[in-house]
Amino acid sequence: MAENHSCSGNCGECGSREKEQFAECEMRRQLARISHKIVVMSGKGGVGKSTVAVNLAMALTLAGKKVGLLDVDLHGPSVPTMLHLERNLYGTEDGRILPVEIGDLKVMSVGVLLPDADAAVIWRGPMKIGVIRQLLADVEWGDLDYLVVDCPPGTGDEPLSICQMLPDADGAVIVTTPQQVAAADVIKSLDFCKRLNFPVIGIIENMSGFVCPKCGELTEIFASGAGEALAARCGVPLLGRIPIDPAVCRGGDTGQPFINSAGGSVAAGVFRKIVGQIAGVELK
Ligand code: ADP
Repeated sequence: MAENHSCSGNCGECGSREKEQFAECEMRRQLARISHKIVVMSGKGGVGKSTVAVNLAMALTLAGKKVGLLDVDLHGPSVPTMLHLERNLYGTEDGRILPVEIGDLKVMSVGVLLPDADAAVIWRGPMKIGVIRQLLADVEWGDLDYLVVDCPPGTGDEPLSICQMLPDADGAVIVTTPQQVAAADVIKSLDFCKRLNFPVIGIIENMSGFVCPKCGELTEIFASGAGEALAARCGVPLLGRIPIDPAVCRGGDTGQPFINSAGGSVAAGVFRKIVGQIAGVELK
């Protein structure tokens, strides 16, 4: 077994099998330094996955935790925009990639590694799986309390690889919006987790009504309740309902997570309670 193998897989005598085993052991060794792993996913795009992932990671740092945020949305990474990350800002040390550091938050996204922000990523499954493995194993995450992973929509290569590479994860946070048309796709993510035996921490219903900034009245813009119905149907907790709030969108566009930049908003209040349920931390 590679555990007993003394070289780094580059001795020239190792075959591809040994190299693979070495890489696998190395990845396990790195991941063992991370106490909790949380995967944010959804069957539908545009429902607020990246918003949840970025603000969850940021909220956990505000609670004093050491946190990493990994964006595995290879074709449409939003994390660089949502955290205002410069391209090529990352460094390397001893052949390992150093994550971008924003205060106590360590971040890595394929969007930071690519030289051209506007270039399309045209990769097939095996290439994507290799890149995700590298993002987990070759990035110098160090000792972390939490790693939050932002997945692309659907149940394809990226979430499948992540769930298989993180078998000891705390589980998935599933994001939906209140409409049936979203729920019809999001239920597939729940089925995906069930079939992979991957735990579900709970469902977040995002864009759940609009709170008038003047009078505080809640207006249900979309039909309501799909998150709640999904949670009841699948026997998983509904973690909370985040309203539509211009501060959330502004935070995403300006690279200032709303949990920080609009801490007094209704959305931030709801989100703090959600983080409390996910991680058992109390945020003021
Ligand atoms: P996904 O990752 O599921 O594709 P995003 O997190 O990128 O979705 O969100 C899509 C857009 O909706 C972004 O512009 C984001 O800022 C905005 N958004 C997400 N949640 C809210 C909300 N609760 N209120 C207002 N805008 C939101």
